[in-house]
Order: sequence, then structure tokens, then C-alpha cells
Amino acid sequence: MFDIIRIPAFKDNYIWLLRKGASAVVVDPGDARPVLEVLEREGLTLTSILITHHHNDHQGGVAELLAHYPAEVFGPAAESITGISQPLRGGETISFGLLGVGFRVLAVPGHTLGHLAYYGSGALFCGDTLFGGGCGRLFEGSPLQMHDSLTQLALLPDETVVFCAHEYTEANLRFALAVEPGNRQLRKRIDEVAVLRSKGLATVPSTIELEKATNPFLRCTEPEIIASAQNRVAQAHNEAEVFAVLRDWKNSF
Ligand code: ZN
Ligand code: FE
Repeated sequence: MFDIIRIPAFKDNYIWLLRKGASAVVVDPGDARPVLEVLEREGLTLTSILITHHHNDHQGGVAELLAHYPAEVFGPAAESITGISQPLRGGETISFGLLGVGFRVLAVPGHTLGHLAYYGSGALFCGDTLFGGGCGRLFEGSPLQMHDSLTQLALLPDETVVFCAHEYTEANLRFALAVEPGNRQLRKRIDEVAVLRSKGLATVPSTIELEKATNPFLRCTEPEIIASAQNRVAQAHNEAEVFAVLRDWKNSF
């Protein structure tokens, strides 16, 4: 398998580095400098870059990394990203020679229309689609698209480790509690996250199991969540409409 190194970037981004032996793959390098520091410190050669979507905090470092390493760059064909050598649309299986593992490419539109997630070896790299306790904003896609994308991720095995691209969990869980105050597992997670953050520690990765138990955006069929949504918008009837109400509510929370 491979080891995974968390590289903090900007205010609250995480760049994930997969390492096996002396080779490395990075996911969403919005900034090259912290990645180059880790590569040099650990004596690693960058062989591949995975991009989930076109926002600059996820791809801004690609050009500078390519100036140092002749890496292959995987990313959404449907988005404007410089340096992509392996354009993807979802449904492909990709492998990185030196890591010796295959990843499934999932199309997860919503945050952006071409947004991709990468799943392999029990790990999910989902960019700004699924967050700890929350989900990405709908900059380009519809609530229905995002709901379908999250439903697809929720169908992955419970033990899947979820590597999202931002440290947003604490604020997300404050919203989750407003939506579902009766969720005991959610209250437990809030306490655990508060301890981690008070020590300056990361709250990600999480797991699909934990997200299904505590993330309101994956729980749109729970009676308490349906009731909370209908309290705001009476005509929120089906799952996707409940999701749309939650996503809108979170924007102004
Ligand atoms: Zn983004
Ligand atoms: Fe982002």
C-alpha cells in the first residue's frame, strides 16, 4: 500500500501526499511550496498529481510542481485546468505505476460541474464534495446533482477513509446540531472534534461510517432532519428537496 502525509496549505486546505518508497502522488496541490518542502525533506520524487476540480486552492501549484518534476496530471476533462495530461470524466480506473494501486474515478458534480473524486485502497479523495460533517457549496451544480453525488459516496464501504480538502468540520457540526439536536453520535463527535481543535489537531480524515451517522447532508431521510427542513420550507417533501433546504440554510447559518 502507501502512506499518506497531510500537508496543510493556506488557511484551512489539506493537500494529501501518497507515498510509497521514494515516489509520491499529491492530490489537489493548491500551493507548490509546502509540497516541495515535504518532497525535499523526505527525499521523494513526484510522479503523479490528482486534481478534483478547477478552483485555484486545488490546482494553483501544478505549474510550479511540473517545473520541478515531470509528473503526469490527472483531472477533470470538463474543467479548465492547466497542465492536465490525463483528462478524466468519471468511470475510469487509473493506476500510478510506482504506487501499484488502481483508483476508481467518480464523477461527483455539484460544487463544480466537472468535480471528480478518487477512490482506491479503501481511501476516498473527495475534494470539496464531502466534508467532515458537511458538504461543499453549490457554485455550479444543482442541489439534485450534489445530492446524487453524495449518495454515490455514501454507498462506498463503511470503513472507507475520507480525505477531504478542508478543515471545516467544527463549523459544519455546529450546523448539524441545529438540524438534528437529538443525534447522540453527533454530540459525541462534536466533543471529540472540540478536543482535537483545542490542541490544534486535524479532524480529517474521517470515515464513510462516521459521516453517514453524523453528517446531515447524508441523512436526508431521517425524520428529525425532515422535520427541521420542513420547519424552514414547508414543501420540502422528498429527499432531494430536504437536501436543497439544508444546503441553502447552511449558507446563511
Ligand atoms: Zn472548491
Ligand atoms: Fe477548496
